[in-house]
Amino acid sequence: MNPRSPRNPQNPHIRGEGGTVEERAALRLAAGRARAGELMPYLGDALYAVKAVPTSAIPAAGIDTRWRMYYNPAFVLGLDVAEVVGVWLHEVGHPLRSHHERFTALAEPRERLPLFNRAGDCTINEDLRAAGIRLPPAKAWYPEKVPGAAAGMTAEQIYRLLAAGPTAAGPRRSPAVFAAEFTSVLDDCGSGAGGGRRPWEADDSGRDAAGEDDGSVDAGRAELIRQRTAREVLEHARTRGSVPAGWRRWAERTLTPVVDWRRELLSVTRRVSARVAGVRDYTYARPSRRAAAAPGVVLPAMRQPRPPRVAVVVDTSASVSADMLARVQAETEAVVRRCRGSGVQVIACDAAAGRAQRVRRVQDVELTGGGGTDVRVGIAAAAALRPAVDLVITATDGDTPWPDVPPRENPGAVHVVLLLDGEREGVPAWMRTLVVEREEPLR
Ligand SMILES: [Zn+2]
Repeated sequence: MNPRSPRNPQNPHIRGEGGTVEERAALRLAAGRARAGELMPYLGDALYAVKAVPTSAIPAAGIDTRWRMYYNPAFVLGLDVAEVVGVWLHEVGHPLRSHHERFTALAEPRERLPLFNRAGDCTINEDLRAAGIRLPPAKAWYPEKVPGAAAGMTAEQIYRLLAAGPTAAGPRRSPAVFAAEFTSVLDDCGSGAGGGRRPWEADDSGRDAAGEDDGSVDAGRAELIRQRTAREVLEHARTRGSVPAGWRRWAERTLTPVVDWRRELLSVTRRVSARVAGVRDYTYARPSRRAAAAPGVVLPAMRQPRPPRVAVVVDTSASVSADMLARVQAETEAVVRRCRGSGVQVIACDAAAGRAQRVRRVQDVELTGGGGTDVRVGIAAAAALRPAVDLVITATDGDTPWPDVPPRENPGAVHVVLLLDGEREGVPAWMRTLVVEREEPLR
């Protein structure tokens, strides 16, 4: 489709007040984009990267994977500028949050795309509502409209709730039928909301009918826009403080370098094991008085380095979710396996540390607490353990005070912090920080 020759059933060539339907719609759209950029200046780059394409092929508006926003001029003219602002901020939210790539990553049947579209709508709109942005009814989906969904959930989480439907009372229907009933073309946001190029979208070449660059956004430029926008979001949050929570989380995720934190944790555990073994080997490599007294005598037990002793400090305060604790448990289990035989001591820690629980199986971990957080108490309790531990793993969401210096009782222990809820500032440099990546992209 050539965006320069749109067709419109409203007969765009009939001139009314202030120009044709198309001209007036384009003006209102431009006014809406300018206002959207004023209200959320950190999304300005993204908003102006979008290429607006008028079309009569859809009843409302949608965006494709190359950031081309299709809109029906009559739809736009039926909205006031405040709602047009909402349409802009809503549609640009889909490609910014990588909804197309994320639905593809789920490898779900394509007929469920409308469900993911709606799930993405819920997460975008939750942030827009928090910022006081109004949406036209066709796009006004919020988490509370999905049974079981809650504020702060990811598109993937809400999608799973929708896909487990039917949510409405009535006989159980197949996902395909459910999806068909559940969606109407009005709220189809296009391939930018989950993939699957629509008949009304231009092709992926980025070229117009004349073979010229159509100014649309390819995957590489999209990632640059996301990175720049994420920095703008955090800068705005730092200097002015008024950024919806979801956009802030998205920005932190986008800028967090992806490291395989499980591999990192394994690598730290191995280094500590090697150090423990090395210290032993070195100690017994020197001829001891006993060895000198009885040459040729080898004590077999001494050849076997002991496994490293590990303490896990678990933040069990109210800000830590059951989901985060489940991940700590899974990883504690892995660490227990790696440190065969030595056992791992777990310290459940809220405002005051509980007693140190020694466990051999992760099922034995008892998590207590639920109040405020001060992991300093747990780290001090880990340092006081005897025999002294070699590795202290502190699992927390990071909303806690930190000790400035390593504990005096056990200055030689290696400290690793597992941040369970994304990057946090304030972790002291003497601790090794690993940001736990969730199973699903959260940005
Ligand atoms: Zn949408």
